[in-house]
Amino acid sequence: MQHKNFKNIDRVVFGRGSFNQLSEIIEPVRKENNHYFVFIVDNYFKDKELSKRLQNKPEDLVYFIDVDPHEPTTEQVDSLRDDILSKKGLPSGVIGIGGGSIMDIAKALSLMLTNEGSSTQYQGLNLIKKPGVYHLGVPTISGTGAEVSMTAVLTGPEKKLGLKCDYTVFNQVILDPELIATVPNDKWFYTGMDTYIHCIESENGIKKNAFSTAYAQASLKLCREVYLDENPRKPENDDKLMVASLMGGLSLTYSEVGVCHALSYGLSKILGYKHCYANCVIFQHLEDIYPEGVKEFKKMLEKNKIELPQNLSKEWSDETITAMANVSYNLPFMWQHAFGENYKEIATIDFIKGLFKRL
Ligand code: NAD
Ligand code: ZN
Repeated sequence: MQHKNFKNIDRVVFGRGSFNQLSEIIEPVRKENNHYFVFIVDNYFKDKELSKRLQNKPEDLVYFIDVDPHEPTTEQVDSLRDDILSKKGLPSGVIGIGGGSIMDIAKALSLMLTNEGSSTQYQGLNLIKKPGVYHLGVPTISGTGAEVSMTAVLTGPEKKLGLKCDYTVFNQVILDPELIATVPNDKWFYTGMDTYIHCIESENGIKKNAFSTAYAQASLKLCREVYLDENPRKPENDDKLMVASLMGGLSLTYSEVGVCHALSYGLSKILGYKHCYANCVIFQHLEDIYPEGVKEFKKMLEKNKIELPQNLSKEWSDETITAMANVSYNLPFMWQHAFGENYKEIATIDFIKGLFKRL
């Protein structure tokens, strides 16, 4: 058996106010390429205090990006790359400040600045030919684990699939819990639950092992402390959530996601639901597959007064459900992890359609 030889983030700084160390951290990298940095910042921060603390120099390029209309696309990354190269040539590095969407755009952009052609050519495992430029991630909403993962998920004309390779992993991550304090409650819940679901799925499948379990259990403990707390939004819980997200991501590195994520990809690809919200909408209906996880998830919903939509599938045609089931069916490694070697006997198209009809 071939064991994964996974690439971790080169450097991590964690702590309240650590964002202020950004300029000091990137200064030595400025000698690379054309001596300037590209900042990719969530549009939310455009007129907020953080936009005055970016620590960018006059020669740097700053792009504020609205991540709400859709998840990151191949076209978006390609045109950003073309714009940057035509303006100033190859930058010293790319800094991403925002949530999972911005993390993915920054990671993909770093790679596409040095790899020719369209990012659609590189959606898949180890298709990238050259290392990208230096890239640094500053998460401002926690849960996806995108800050640590080796993939940059992009939606292209044909598929929603990551640029996945060792070069994708950030050179540096700055984890400053102060930055997530402003996340609205609903988004804070959905994105945090992505980590919770990562860990439940990582733990309930054939690929789990001592490495993935250690991280999953530590992350689950932190999730419980945050989402079952009497005062969930107190500042010290932001510290915990940020670490939980990182550890959930590390758990997956050596295990796999499962049924909820397989379905979630179908819901996102066909109906455009955002990843973390899609997971929550689905997970509530998987009691028979993840009994303890779903029970606890419902407690967290109640505690945080979050209501999820019901009876969605009544509005969906058989054609839509079949299309979503086909996307999910084509993620065999997730089904195999969840149901074992004989997964094909269980996870048939009809079975998957049945799961979508529960929603
Ligand atoms: P996001 O980046 O899509 O942002 C969600 C919302 O939160 C946006 O409205 C954003 O403006 C807002 N926001 C972010 N920080 C804020 C702050 N500090 N205060 C107020 N509002 C803030 O959110 P996400 O859930 O982190 O990321 C979802 C994306 O991550 C999806 O595109 C998904 O495909 C991707 N993803 C990637 C991986 C990976 O390993 N690469 C894993 C899971 C999900
Ligand atoms: Zn996820």
